[in-house]
Amino acid sequence: MRITGKTRICALIGYPVEHSLSPIMHNAAFQYLGLDYVYVAFNVPPERLGEAVSGIRGLGILGANVTMPHKINVIRYLEELDESARLAGSVNTILNRDGRLIGYTTDGLGALNALKYAGSDPLGKKVVILGAGGASRSISFTLANYARELVILNRTLKRAEELVSDLKRVFGSANIRAKPLSEAVLRNELKDTNILINATSVGMRPNENETPAGRDVLHGDLTVFDIVYDPLETRLLREAKMVGAKTVDGLSMLVHQGAISFEIWTGVKAPIEVMREAALKKIMGKAD
Ligand code: NAP
Repeated sequence: MRITGKTRICALIGYPVEHSLSPIMHNAAFQYLGLDYVYVAFNVPPERLGEAVSGIRGLGILGANVTMPHKINVIRYLEELDESARLAGSVNTILNRDGRLIGYTTDGLGALNALKYAGSDPLGKKVVILGAGGASRSISFTLANYARELVILNRTLKRAEELVSDLKRVFGSANIRAKPLSEAVLRNELKDTNILINATSVGMRPNENETPAGRDVLHGDLTVFDIVYDPLETRLLREAKMVGAKTVDGLSMLVHQGAISFEIWTGVKAPIEVMREAALKKIMGKAD
């Protein structure tokens, strides 16, 4: 990669960012397509967020990804929100259009594209989403008008109910329900479910022996999509494979949400497989 006087900069703003896969993924894509862009990560503590966003304007940085813990707080510093970000109340991508900063969220569409790419289009299907946090919110706002039926299960039922009421305010009569995340509810709901999405953090390292849905509630007609990507094969995905279910991993969502950000900044179609390979190499410890 050769940095020149014309090199455009994209950045990640988060806290911490040292272990992010995004720089590896985006730089591999820029290099593959011969684009004169570079992607760097900035560790920004919460009290410096406003200054960091002003820096995007001041330095003419073309675009940014925003990650934990800034996805909601960054909104107050932007000039404009695209509809995806307005609905989900969260931003993970910024485009600097001549000094006007526009916020987007690509998490929900990234999840939808990951399912489509795997051949499990949720259009007209029954989808069960586990979790009612930030990721679940982005995914459910994308799927609410797309799936035939959406059921949101969460450990804290009140949070799932609030999410469902926000969804109904926007999507009116859409078929969306909230229920507690329990074995009995899972057993009953999953019987006629097509796609199960884990959007909780259950199963994430260092708790990789945990699963949000035990093997005996899963079945072979399901597509099981776990958005957790550390480890890449979670216990949920391992057990889903054992019962003959189709599986989609969290790296797939990470790559697809990154690909949409890439396209917002460059206007060029993202090389999905190049991005996945680069991230995979890093996960396997084979990248610098
Ligand atoms: P979040 O806002 O903190 O939400 C966490 C969710 O997990 C909540 O619904 C919480 O339930 C639930 N939860 C946590 N511990 C639990 C437990 N022991 N039992 C049952 N439920 C539990 O987090 P987030 O930003 O939505 O992220 C969730 C996961 O998705 C993380 O692992 C993150 O790394 C991953 N993620 C992946 C991608 C990707 O591109 N692949 C993108 C975004 C996030 P309560 O409401 O009851 O606390």
